[in-house]
Amino acid sequence: MHQTPIDTGWVEVICGPMFSGKTEELIRRLRRAELARQKVQSFKPSRDNRYDATQIVSHSQQRRDGHAVESSADLRAAVLPDVQVIGIDEVQFFDAGIVEVVDTLATQGKRVLVAGLDQDYLGRPFEPMPQLLAIAEYITKTLAICMVCGNPAGRSQRLVQTGDRVLVGSHDSYEARCRKCYDPAAGKETP
Ligand code: ADP
Ligand code: MG
Ligand code: ZN
Repeated sequence: MHQTPIDTGWVEVICGPMFSGKTEELIRRLRRAELARQKVQSFKPSRDNRYDATQIVSHSQQRRDGHAVESSADLRAAVLPDVQVIGIDEVQFFDAGIVEVVDTLATQGKRVLVAGLDQDYLGRPFEPMPQLLAIAEYITKTLAICMVCGNPAGRSQRLVQTGDRVLVGSHDSYEARCRKCYDPAAGKETP
């Protein structure tokens, strides 16, 4: 971001595969906003209960308090009127309504940061991330390290076979892979 906007809200998206540092980057930006004495609220979907029920936790165990919500409507209802900065982690787990909620909050003058996966375990765009990328002012794509060859990794390799699009997990069920080393068939359910 070259020039910080004044007197207006905006949307920042942080996206990439698992283990690429999305949550670390979100926590870093929210901490800086707090240092600047801005009023910050952070949210996550209650579906993501990997490390903690309410806290936002990175794979590197950085953490901050968050508010776990079931849906985009619940998130909207929990936003305090005087909040200036809103962070949302694991945004791909929200319903499609999150796009309008994020857009409306930014139009109301709030800085809205969202972090989440841009692709699912088959490498397909993970809705609602494409829609959020379309309405965002600022986009950061983070890459992990490929666990096979060490190249920059943009894919999340599922290590267990299941047909479910959502399988909440960590090192036990996923690893970061580059384009070359990624094998979608390995994560697909065998018929
Ligand atoms: P994300 O939110 O994108 O899943 P996190 O911010 O929670 O990522 O965690 C990033 C951290 O994950 C890194 O700082 C590092 O400690 C750890 N990590 C584990 N595996 C990898 C990997 N393959 N590439 C990069 N970082 C990894
Ligand atoms: Mg994360
Ligand atoms: Zn690789």
